[in-house]
Amino acid sequence: MDFKSIIRDIPNFPQQGIIFRDITPLLAHPHGLTSIIQGFQTKFVELNIGEVDAVIGIESRGFILGAALAMSLGASFVPVRKPKKLPSAVYRVEYSLEYGTDTLEIHQDALAKGERVVIIDDVIATGGTAAATAKLVQQTGAELLAYGFLIELDFLNGRKALPEVPIVSLVNY
Ligand code: 5GP
Repeated sequence: MDFKSIIRDIPNFPQQGIIFRDITPLLAHPHGLTSIIQGFQTKFVELNIGEVDAVIGIESRGFILGAALAMSLGASFVPVRKPKKLPSAVYRVEYSLEYGTDTLEIHQDALAKGERVVIIDDVIATGGTAAATAKLVQQTGAELLAYGFLIELDFLNGRKALPEVPIVSLVNY
C-alpha cells in the first residue's frame, strides 16, 4: 500500500509554518491498519528482534497503532499517557519542548523487570516524546527491543535523540 499517497498534508497546523501529516485517511482506509501492522511486523522480523512481550503505545495515536500491533503479536498493550490520566501509581518523566516542558507517565506495575518491549507511535519528529518514553521503560526495568513509527520526519533527525536500539519507520519525509 502506498501510505504516502493516502496520508494527508495539512499546512499550518497546529501552527503557522508546520505541515501536519494527518494519518486519519489512512486509518479510514479499510486495509490501512492491517497494512501498517504488517509493515511493522515484517520489519521487526527482518531485524530479528525476537519475541515481544509488550507493546507500549504513546498517547494518543500510538494507542491505535500499538493496540493493533499487540493484538497481532499476541502481546500485552501498555499505554504511556499525558499527566494525571493514569489512576494508579506512576513513573513520570519530564522532557523539554521548543517552548516549555511536557510530561509522560506509565503505571509502575505495567511492566515486569526483563519484559521485552517495543515502543510505537505514529510520528517521530524531534524524538523528544519517544526518548522520554524510553526513560519510562527503563524505570520499570523492562528491556527495550526496538521502536516502530509509521512516519519519520528525517529532516528533524529525531532518531539521534533515541537510545541505541533498532528504529523502524514505514514512511519518510
Ligand atoms: P516529537 O516529540 O518527536 O517532536 O513529536 C512526536 C509527537 O508529536 C508524536 O506523538 C506525534 O503524534 C506528534 N506529531 C508531531 N508532528 C506530527 C505530524 O505531522 N503528524 C502527526 N500525526 N503527529 C505529529
